[in-house]
Amino acid sequence: MADRDALIAYLNGEYLPRGEARVPITDRGLLFGDSVYEVVPAYGGRPFRVGHHLQRLDRSLAAIRMDNPLSHAEWRQVFDRLTGQLPGQDQSIYLQVTRGAYPKRSHVIPAEVHPTVLAFISPKPPRDAEKAQQGIRVITLDDIRWHRCDIKATALLANVLARAQATEEGADEAILIRDGAAMEGTASNLFVVSNGLLITPPDSEELLPGITRDLVLELAQEAGVPFAQAAIDAADLETADEIWLTSSTREVSAVVELNGRPVGSGRPGELWQRMDALFQACKERLRQGVECHDD
Ligand code: PMP
Repeated sequence: MADRDALIAYLNGEYLPRGEARVPITDRGLLFGDSVYEVVPAYGGRPFRVGHHLQRLDRSLAAIRMDNPLSHAEWRQVFDRLTGQLPGQDQSIYLQVTRGAYPKRSHVIPAEVHPTVLAFISPKPPRDAEKAQQGIRVITLDDIRWHRCDIKATALLANVLARAQATEEGADEAILIRDGAAMEGTASNLFVVSNGLLITPPDSEELLPGITRDLVLELAQEAGVPFAQAAIDAADLETADEIWLTSSTREVSAVVELNGRPVGSGRPGELWQRMDALFQACKERLRQGVECHDD
């Protein structure tokens, strides 16, 4: 595996080894979590659904009263420069835009402040098909996050603590329950399959509009799989035939155990097998240079 700190990162217009990139201790991203981010997978060195990620970045920035400091073309140039270090390899691009460093620590947003802009890549381990077939285990936990989970903010303490509890309980992820409804995972979106219908909670300020989630919905539409965006009660999870969690990192993962009890047959379900194949085909097309459902 590449020495991650030796890989070149982007910081405020410069390219330098990641281990040497520094931000000031007065950066508001550090002091207040006053910052947003994106994670863009790149398959065969090619960023996946990059247009969608950049649009979501624009929305996150607008929601925290910031302009995008780079144009989409400039971001794409940064991604090309970074991913070019691991040509042809699967990798993950991380980018973050903070409000910037400001000498006075105050909640007040300074009138004159320059954003901190950074991006770096990490190698993405190749998909382990056997492991994917084993599925993942999840627990449910109370959703103690704020009410703007649609913003991809770096203030992720509630997510981090929920994930820690999941790990402690031998689970891979936690599904978060707000007012009796299952919203999403700590770092993933939620789907259930019930009587042949694929269901995911509707877009709202209580969950992240996942790029992988949208792709799954597009693939379902294309393949004629009946689907709906509808609230999922916590109790619905217990009777679901299948549960999936989706993210740029996890792709489409089948949940085989919920709170210690098997989901459906206790093995990844039939519809998951179909969707996973469609998703993998999409990745494969991108590796050949054909964009997958990107604008
Ligand atoms: N929900 C949350 C809370 C997340 O952190 C993520 C991963 N960034 C997702 C959903 C999935 O989003 P995406 O498919 O864009 O990775």
